[in-house]
Amino acid sequence: MFRKKIYGQSKTEECPFCGKIPTTSNEQKIPTCQDHKDVLLEDLKCACNDWLDLKESKYGPFFVCMNCGPVSFKKALDLNGYPLKSILDL
Ligand SMILES: [Zn+2]
Ligand SMILES: [Zn+2]
Repeated sequence: MFRKKIYGQSKTEECPFCGKIPTTSNEQKIPTCQDHKDVLLEDLKCACNDWLDLKESKYGPFFVCMNCGPVSFKKALDLNGYPLKSILDL
């Protein structure tokens, strides 16, 4: 008997500013905890050092780089030093 494990399906479930479970979202529609709902994500940079554009999809927020195309929300936050723990599940 094998149990199916599903990876990579999880949405962003941590406040990008502190890693807590989000209970609300900020002006940018990014899930955050109550403490950080008024905090906005500053301009983030891509691995190629270009700026990332914040976009929204039905799966949640993500970023687009002019050079690299779409960059996942978690990856962009990781590149910019935000403390998402679930980044390890990517
Ligand atoms: Zn927070
Ligand atoms: Zn890039």
